[in-house]
Amino acid sequence: MTLVERDKAVIWHPYTQMKNALPNIPIVRGEGAHLYDENGKKYIDAVSSWWVNIHGHSHPYIAEKVAEQLKVLEHVIFAGFTHEPAVLLAERLLPLLPGKQEKVFYSDNGSTAVEVAIKMCLQYWANTSPNPRKKIIAFKDAYHGDTFGAMSVSGRSIFTDPFKSLLFDVEFIDLPNAQNIVQLKSKINYLSNEVACFIFEPRVLGAGGMLMYEASYLDELLDTCQKHGILTIADEVMTGFGRTGTYFSCEALQNTPDIFCLSKGLTGGTMPLGITTCNSKIFDAFLSDDKLKTLYHGHSFTANPISIAASLASLDILLHPSTLENVQRISLKHQEFAKRLIGNSKLKDVRQTGTILVMEWETGGDSNYLSELRNTLYLFFLERGIIMRPLGNIIYILPPYVISDQDLDYIYDTILQALNEL
Ligand code: PMP
Repeated sequence: MTLVERDKAVIWHPYTQMKNALPNIPIVRGEGAHLYDENGKKYIDAVSSWWVNIHGHSHPYIAEKVAEQLKVLEHVIFAGFTHEPAVLLAERLLPLLPGKQEKVFYSDNGSTAVEVAIKMCLQYWANTSPNPRKKIIAFKDAYHGDTFGAMSVSGRSIFTDPFKSLLFDVEFIDLPNAQNIVQLKSKINYLSNEVACFIFEPRVLGAGGMLMYEASYLDELLDTCQKHGILTIADEVMTGFGRTGTYFSCEALQNTPDIFCLSKGLTGGTMPLGITTCNSKIFDAFLSDDKLKTLYHGHSFTANPISIAASLASLDILLHPSTLENVQRISLKHQEFAKRLIGNSKLKDVRQTGTILVMEWETGGDSNYLSELRNTLYLFFLERGIIMRPLGNIIYILPPYVISDQDLDYIYDTILQALNEL
């Protein structure tokens, strides 16, 4: 049997209708921005393997640091014990985050980082108030993950539909703009006494359609929240670690959130790890002689030393000046290419933030994750050696920062070809 046949016999793939799924492509090797299949065909990973890979595949420096760590300590229970990599990563990461973040809480992935953030906020109110606030505000098109808490604070969509009666209620608001900002602020003012926290993806909403909005309006929302003591959670799972042009997307804000959620690029995309950071206001609310005020949360693999070794190595590369130079190079090339698309009648919208370039195909109706165009676009690029993962009729490029100008030009040319031919 081929690997594809063996896979079909035993594997259930994510986000995939298994009845009529396209055959999965066996990948045998990765290097830089490229992946190679078992026949030797080369693909450009234009979506950084679900947005995780920032420095390129099989990075030799990360591999070396992971291998070194594996020989010393692969894992240890993190309740009652600690280790150098966990402390060092927290010491190095906290000062890089905007504002004054004081503590790191480790978990396994983006969804768990969000779960921890929500629990920190809800228990903050339970620990500090006789009448705890319970409402959460989130964006209508947000995506924060696939576990139940993360699904609850994500916009209601086809992803959450089968579970909708079991998700907790959330106050959803539109993305802020010049027209609605006053109304959004008055909604927050009106609800304020009941609202525990506001969770948001800063400046770019990922799976909800790569939607972008202005930092200045987010600042106004944060001002309003902070005026009423509403805690604020920045979900930088997708936007963190250089993706939007600076180390963190929240650097574009005047206000600083109370909590950050990090994952994906944290380990350079090498292995799973989640981090939730918080300021002292949150942390101090859990300090008590009353055992019930403890944050009773943890995972078997909390602070896994191997994942953290990858993160420390990834951070070394991130902080090397050449990385932000690459981010800047990609951002400028995206901007130039976006200009060439202005007025193209096949496109409803073209938008860009940092290394993320988004093109929304015109379909005559609203954008839709289930658009028929999805597979046509996916296969068009795949056949030409480019891995894209359209969100319905929306395509985007979100590459590893090591991608060459030549590869970017090839992707742009292929997009122009798709616009001509499809
Ligand atoms: N938050 C955001 C903004 C995300 O984009 C994602 C994943 N796409 C998540 C949370 C969930 O992360 P994970 O898939 O690692 O659980």
